Amino acid sequence: MIELKNIVKKYKSQTVLEIENLRFDEDEFVAIVGASGSGKSTLLNLIGGLDKPTSGEVLFDGENISKFNDRKLSKFRGQKIGFIFQFFYLQPFLTVLQNIEVAGFPVKLKSKERRFRAEKLASVVGLKDKMNSFPRELSGGQIQRVAIARSLINSPEILLADEPTGNLDSENSDRVIEMLELIQKQTKMTLIVVTHNEQIAARADRIIRLKDGKIC
Ligand code: ADP
Ligand code: MG
Repeated sequence: MIELKNIVKKYKSQTVLEIENLRFDEDEFVAIVGASGSGKSTLLNLIGGLDKPTSGEVLFDGENISKFNDRKLSKFRGQKIGFIFQFFYLQPFLTVLQNIEVAGFPVKLKSKERRFRAEKLASVVGLKDKMNSFPRELSGGQIQRVAIARSLINSPEILLADEPTGNLDSENSDRVIEMLELIQKQTKMTLIVVTHNEQIAARADRIIRLKDGKIC
Protein backbone atom coordinates (compact mmCIF):
# COMPACT_ATOMS: atom_id res chain seq x y z
CA MET A 1 0.00 0.00 0.00
CA ILE A 2 1.23 3.47 -0.84
CA GLU A 3 0.23 6.61 0.98
CA LEU A 4 1.12 10.25 0.39
CA LYS A 5 0.92 12.66 3.30
CA ASN A 6 1.18 16.46 3.21
CA ILE A 7 3.15 16.40 -0.02
CA VAL A 8 4.54 19.59 -1.46
CA LYS A 9 6.78 19.53 -4.52
CA LYS A 10 8.46 22.72 -5.63
CA TYR A 11 10.77 23.53 -8.50
CA LYS A 12 12.69 26.58 -7.33
CA SER A 13 9.92 28.71 -5.81
CA GLN A 14 7.13 27.29 -7.95
CA THR A 15 4.83 24.81 -6.20
CA VAL A 16 3.84 22.19 -8.77
CA LEU A 17 2.17 19.63 -6.50
CA GLU A 18 0.29 19.92 -3.21
CA ILE A 19 -1.46 16.83 -1.88
CA GLU A 20 -2.69 16.46 1.68
CA ASN A 21 -3.62 12.82 1.66
CA LEU A 22 -3.75 10.16 -1.02
CA ARG A 23 -3.70 6.43 -0.77
CA PHE A 24 -3.42 3.55 -3.22
CA ASP A 25 -4.43 0.07 -2.17
CA GLU A 26 -3.28 -3.29 -3.43
CA ASP A 27 -5.29 -4.70 -6.27
CA GLU A 28 -6.49 -1.28 -7.47
CA PHE A 29 -6.50 0.23 -10.95
CA VAL A 30 -6.36 4.01 -10.63
CA ALA A 31 -6.34 6.56 -13.44
CA ILE A 32 -4.76 10.00 -13.03
CA VAL A 33 -6.08 12.65 -15.40
CA GLY A 34 -5.49 16.36 -15.81
CA ALA A 35 -4.34 18.97 -18.29
CA SER A 36 -0.75 19.12 -19.43
CA GLY A 37 1.37 20.67 -16.68
CA SER A 38 -1.09 19.76 -13.91
CA GLY A 39 1.51 17.62 -12.11
CA LYS A 40 0.62 14.09 -13.25
CA SER A 41 4.16 12.98 -14.06
CA THR A 42 5.50 14.66 -10.94
CA LEU A 43 3.02 12.68 -8.85
CA LEU A 44 3.91 9.41 -10.56
CA ASN A 45 7.63 10.04 -10.10
CA LEU A 46 7.14 10.66 -6.38
CA ILE A 47 5.14 7.45 -5.98
CA GLY A 48 7.81 5.48 -7.82
CA GLY A 49 10.74 6.98 -5.97
CA LEU A 50 12.18 8.59 -9.10
CA ASP A 51 11.96 11.94 -7.37
CA LYS A 52 11.59 13.20 -3.78
CA PRO A 53 9.03 15.66 -2.40
CA THR A 54 10.16 19.05 -1.12
CA SER A 55 8.23 18.21 2.03
CA GLY A 56 5.86 15.49 3.18
CA GLU A 57 6.01 11.72 3.16
CA VAL A 58 5.60 8.95 0.63
CA LEU A 59 4.90 5.81 2.63
CA PHE A 60 5.24 2.36 1.12
CA ASP A 61 3.81 -0.23 3.53
CA GLY A 62 4.36 2.35 6.26
CA GLU A 63 8.00 3.10 5.38
CA ASN A 64 8.92 6.63 4.30
CA ILE A 65 10.71 6.17 0.98
CA SER A 66 11.44 9.91 0.79
CA LYS A 67 14.05 9.30 3.51
CA PHE A 68 15.82 6.51 1.63
CA ASN A 69 19.31 7.20 0.31
CA ASP A 70 19.91 6.72 -3.42
CA ARG A 71 21.08 3.15 -3.06
CA LYS A 72 18.11 2.07 -0.97
CA LEU A 73 15.77 3.95 -3.28
CA SER A 74 17.07 2.28 -6.41
CA LYS A 75 16.77 -1.11 -4.73
CA PHE A 76 13.18 -0.25 -3.79
CA ARG A 77 12.41 0.74 -7.39
CA GLY A 78 13.97 -2.39 -8.79
CA GLN A 79 12.09 -4.72 -6.47
CA LYS A 80 8.72 -3.10 -6.03
CA ILE A 81 7.99 -0.77 -8.93
CA GLY A 82 7.45 -1.24 -12.65
CA PHE A 83 7.52 1.76 -14.99
CA ILE A 84 6.06 2.27 -18.44
CA PHE A 85 6.57 5.62 -20.17
CA GLN A 86 5.04 7.18 -23.27
CA PHE A 87 8.37 7.59 -24.98
CA PHE A 88 10.65 4.93 -23.79
CA TYR A 89 13.63 3.62 -25.50
CA LEU A 90 14.37 0.04 -26.16
CA GLN A 91 18.02 -0.82 -26.59
CA PRO A 92 18.34 -0.88 -30.38
CA PHE A 93 21.06 -3.52 -30.51
CA LEU A 94 19.30 -5.96 -28.21
CA THR A 95 16.52 -8.31 -29.26
CA VAL A 96 13.01 -8.19 -27.82
CA LEU A 97 13.88 -10.96 -25.38
CA GLN A 98 17.12 -9.28 -24.30
CA ASN A 99 15.33 -5.95 -23.86
CA ILE A 100 12.88 -7.62 -21.46
CA GLU A 101 15.68 -9.45 -19.65
CA VAL A 102 17.92 -6.45 -18.99
CA ALA A 103 15.18 -4.83 -16.92
CA GLY A 104 15.66 -7.70 -14.49
CA PHE A 105 19.26 -6.81 -13.65
CA PRO A 106 18.60 -4.66 -10.56
CA VAL A 107 17.14 -7.72 -8.85
CA LYS A 108 19.44 -10.64 -8.31
CA LEU A 109 17.79 -13.34 -10.38
CA LYS A 110 19.61 -16.36 -11.72
CA SER A 111 20.12 -15.91 -15.46
CA LYS A 112 18.01 -18.99 -16.20
CA GLU A 113 15.13 -17.65 -14.14
CA ARG A 114 15.43 -14.27 -15.83
CA ARG A 115 15.33 -15.89 -19.26
CA PHE A 116 12.35 -18.01 -18.27
CA ARG A 117 10.41 -15.01 -17.04
CA ALA A 118 11.31 -12.93 -20.11
CA GLU A 119 10.08 -15.68 -22.46
CA LYS A 120 6.86 -16.05 -20.53
CA LEU A 121 6.23 -12.30 -20.55
CA ALA A 122 6.97 -12.07 -24.28
CA SER A 123 4.21 -14.67 -24.75
CA VAL A 124 1.81 -12.88 -22.40
CA VAL A 125 2.07 -9.69 -24.46
CA GLY A 126 1.65 -11.61 -27.73
CA LEU A 127 5.23 -11.33 -28.96
CA LYS A 128 6.31 -14.94 -28.80
CA ASP A 129 7.18 -14.98 -32.49
CA LYS A 130 9.08 -11.66 -32.19
CA MET A 131 11.38 -12.62 -29.33
CA ASN A 132 14.45 -12.59 -31.50
CA SER A 133 13.50 -9.50 -33.52
CA PHE A 134 15.16 -6.13 -33.02
CA PRO A 135 13.20 -2.98 -32.06
CA ARG A 136 13.51 -1.49 -35.58
CA GLU A 137 11.54 -4.48 -36.87
CA LEU A 138 8.53 -3.75 -34.63
CA SER A 139 5.46 -1.52 -34.89
CA GLY A 140 4.67 1.16 -32.30
CA GLY A 141 2.07 -1.07 -30.64
CA GLN A 142 4.50 -3.98 -30.48
CA ILE A 143 7.20 -1.76 -28.99
CA GLN A 144 4.80 -0.61 -26.30
CA ARG A 145 4.01 -4.25 -25.54
CA VAL A 146 7.74 -4.93 -25.09
CA ALA A 147 7.72 -2.02 -22.62
CA ILE A 148 4.90 -3.69 -20.69
CA ALA A 149 6.72 -7.01 -20.59
CA ARG A 150 9.90 -5.25 -19.51
CA SER A 151 8.12 -3.44 -16.68
CA LEU A 152 6.89 -6.75 -15.28
CA ILE A 153 10.10 -8.76 -15.20
CA ASN A 154 10.65 -8.23 -11.46
CA SER A 155 6.99 -8.92 -10.56
CA PRO A 156 6.40 -5.39 -9.24
CA GLU A 157 3.82 -4.63 -6.58
CA ILE A 158 3.04 -1.31 -8.21
CA LEU A 159 2.97 -0.63 -11.93
CA LEU A 160 3.19 3.03 -12.95
CA ALA A 161 2.33 3.96 -16.51
CA ASP A 162 2.78 7.54 -17.74
CA GLU A 163 0.57 8.04 -20.80
CA PRO A 164 1.37 4.53 -22.04
CA THR A 165 -0.92 4.88 -25.04
CA GLY A 166 -0.11 8.51 -25.82
CA ASN A 167 1.43 7.81 -29.18
CA LEU A 168 -0.67 4.83 -30.26
CA ASP A 169 -3.75 4.67 -32.50
CA SER A 170 -7.04 3.76 -30.82
CA GLU A 171 -6.91 0.07 -31.73
CA ASN A 172 -3.42 -0.42 -30.32
CA SER A 173 -4.19 1.74 -27.36
CA ASP A 174 -7.24 -0.42 -26.47
CA ARG A 175 -5.11 -3.51 -26.78
CA VAL A 176 -2.41 -2.14 -24.51
CA ILE A 177 -4.92 -1.08 -21.83
CA GLU A 178 -6.78 -4.40 -21.99
CA MET A 179 -3.48 -6.17 -21.52
CA LEU A 180 -2.57 -4.02 -18.51
CA GLU A 181 -6.01 -4.56 -16.97
CA LEU A 182 -5.77 -8.31 -17.42
CA ILE A 183 -2.30 -8.51 -15.90
CA GLN A 184 -3.39 -6.28 -13.03
CA LYS A 185 -6.33 -8.56 -12.22
CA GLN A 186 -4.21 -11.69 -12.40
CA THR A 187 -1.34 -10.42 -10.29
CA LYS A 188 -3.35 -8.19 -7.92
CA MET A 189 -0.79 -5.44 -8.24
CA THR A 190 -1.62 -1.76 -8.00
CA LEU A 191 -1.89 -0.22 -11.47
CA ILE A 192 -1.66 3.56 -11.77
CA VAL A 193 -2.12 4.98 -15.25
CA VAL A 194 -1.71 8.62 -16.25
CA THR A 195 -3.85 9.37 -19.27
CA HIS A 196 -5.47 12.14 -21.29
CA ASN A 197 -8.02 9.67 -22.58
CA GLU A 198 -11.35 9.73 -20.70
CA GLN A 199 -12.38 6.38 -22.14
CA ILE A 200 -9.32 4.75 -20.65
CA ALA A 201 -9.84 6.56 -17.35
CA ALA A 202 -13.45 5.34 -17.21
CA ARG A 203 -12.20 1.75 -17.07
CA ALA A 204 -10.30 2.34 -13.83
CA ASP A 205 -11.67 1.55 -10.36
CA ARG A 206 -11.02 5.16 -9.39
CA ILE A 207 -10.11 8.41 -11.14
CA ILE A 208 -7.90 11.09 -9.59
CA ARG A 209 -8.18 14.48 -11.25
CA LEU A 210 -5.37 16.99 -10.95
CA LYS A 211 -5.61 20.70 -11.58
CA ASP A 212 -2.64 23.02 -11.02
CA GLY A 213 -1.00 20.43 -8.80
CA LYS A 214 -4.03 19.81 -6.62
CA ILE A 215 -6.61 17.05 -6.50
CA CYS A 216 -9.96 18.38 -7.60
P1 ADP B 1 2.04 16.75 -16.43
O1 ADP B 1 2.69 15.42 -16.40
O2 ADP B 1 0.68 16.78 -15.82
O3 ADP B 1 2.02 17.34 -17.81
P2 ADP B 1 4.35 17.59 -14.90
O4 ADP B 1 4.23 16.85 -13.63
O5 ADP B 1 5.33 17.10 -15.91
O6 ADP B 1 2.91 17.77 -15.54
O7 ADP B 1 4.74 19.09 -14.58
C1 ADP B 1 4.07 19.87 -13.59
C2 ADP B 1 4.73 21.25 -13.52
O8 ADP B 1 6.04 21.12 -13.02
C3 ADP B 1 4.85 21.95 -14.86
O9 ADP B 1 4.61 23.31 -14.67
C4 ADP B 1 6.29 21.69 -15.25
O10 ADP B 1 6.76 22.71 -16.06
C5 ADP B 1 7.00 21.67 -13.91
N1 ADP B 1 8.18 20.79 -13.92
C6 ADP B 1 8.18 19.45 -14.09
N2 ADP B 1 9.42 18.94 -14.00
C7 ADP B 1 10.24 20.00 -13.78
C8 ADP B 1 11.66 20.14 -13.59
N3 ADP B 1 12.47 19.08 -13.62
N4 ADP B 1 12.14 21.39 -13.38
C9 ADP B 1 11.32 22.47 -13.33
N5 ADP B 1 9.99 22.39 -13.49
C10 ADP B 1 9.45 21.20 -13.72
MG1 MG C 1 3.46 14.22 -17.92
